[in-house]
Amino acid sequence: MIKYRLGCADGHEFESWFRSIADYDKQSRSGAVTCPLCASTEISKLPMAPAVVSARGNKGAPAPEQLPAVAAPSAPPAAMATALRAFKKAVMENSEDVGGRFAEEARKIHFGEAEERNIRGSTTAEEAQSLHQDGVPFGILPELPEDLN
Ligand SMILES: [Zn+2]
Repeated sequence: MIKYRLGCADGHEFESWFRSIADYDKQSRSGAVTCPLCASTEISKLPMAPAVVSARGNKGAPAPEQLPAVAAPSAPPAAMATALRAFKKAVMENSEDVGGRFAEEARKIHFGEAEERNIRGSTTAEEAQSLHQDGVPFGILPELPEDLN
């Protein structure tokens, strides 16, 4: 699952979940992605939420493409938030924050040019798509209600 921050031509911002980057592209091209406020189909991606990569691959976590589609509200339900919080805490405690160099580092690790380790950081939608196309494993960290405070 990937959550995108989207914006329409009128400047409305909203969030939407997609099964994968390819799924977003497909829906976007067919005009299925619309602004909930004005129904505009002129939608563009805004900078993404923090992303995370595991150098050991996504063991235990299915690839985004294998997940069923879920209609999720922009804020996860309480039970889900608790599970996500624990997951996110574990990630934070077991990864190196590389900030805006995320895409660069993830690619280096994937191609064996940097030490194999877990990293986290931020990336743009374009960089994420490029990583995806190169087969670099990574995931998007969920945004939790407290992140927005
Ligand atoms: Zn709009």
